[in-house]
Amino acid sequence: MREVLTQNSTCSLRNGVQIPRLGYGTFECPPEQVINGVRWALELGCRHIDGARAYDNESAVGEAIARSGVERKELFLVSKVWMTDYADVRTAFETSARKLRTDYLDLLMLHWPGTDRTLRLKAYETLLTLCQEGKIRAAGVSNFMIDHLQDLKGEFGEYPLSNQIQIHPWGQQEPLRQFCIQNGIAVEAWGPLMHGSLSQAAELLPIAANYRKSPAQVVLRWHLQKGNIIFPKSLHKERIAENMQLFDFSLSEQDMQLIDGLERDWHWGPEPYSFNG
Ligand code: NDP
Repeated sequence: MREVLTQNSTCSLRNGVQIPRLGYGTFECPPEQVINGVRWALELGCRHIDGARAYDNESAVGEAIARSGVERKELFLVSKVWMTDYADVRTAFETSARKLRTDYLDLLMLHWPGTDRTLRLKAYETLLTLCQEGKIRAAGVSNFMIDHLQDLKGEFGEYPLSNQIQIHPWGQQEPLRQFCIQNGIAVEAWGPLMHGSLSQAAELLPIAANYRKSPAQVVLRWHLQKGNIIFPKSLHKERIAENMQLFDFSLSEQDMQLIDGLERDWHWGPEPYSFNG
């Protein structure tokens, strides 16, 4: 039987922490605009904000949250540690937490694996310590490939709780996604709307028309039905609302397979094995 999804649906991490399946992303959101974006998302009931120190807007995100009046314990706040901070993850955590006006984070992750294994392991070890101390509720990674994940398991005895990777219809990373699922690593999909290239995917138009939904809604619903955690980014109020109206329809198995079939190994951005920040 198909799972009934709602705006409040969560995914359970291996340590029991519940992460909302739908959030709001803040990459490439200038501070003066992210204040409105976060405000609108919160007003519409979103409680999961994905951010990073590298996005250079955490103070504005913190200000928007403070102004909203939403209680901290209702929120799922996420940040990421940039590679240049791997030697001192504790200070990176403290800086992000201060800017976000909180004393704990719900999820903190290493943003990219980087090429320096020793530094990566040291950074991850500090994340685990922060988790033991209760400063973060979950330790995760981002853009880690299968061998990076296996290396962490070999060193620390367990896989990370989550891996945030680029996934969308044109680049689904299915072997990596399946590896994560099989090993209890929650899959977070960044760039869920192809990082802005959605309008070029004409194949989505007839599917969307069939459901009287937009291509964005159909793609986001496809993610949710596959079990991906998503946090689309938009700076437009009407699109933020559109991206949250995903729970009054469901895609048929046939349409899920049609979207699966759009895979073309297209990826935006850096290459995880060579990127060093
Ligand atoms: P998305 O796939 O969310 O796409 C964002 C783009 O789609 C923007 O250009 C936006 O334009 C447009 N858009 C949003 N909604 C709609 C809509 N309904 N219809 C048409 N176009 C729309 O890209 P992101 O790369 O931002 O990914 C989402 C989040 O993932 C990020 O914000 C960030 O939090 C995270 N991320 C993580 C990375 C990592 O390395 N871990 C890397 C990149 C992102 P507009 O704003 O004008 O509406």
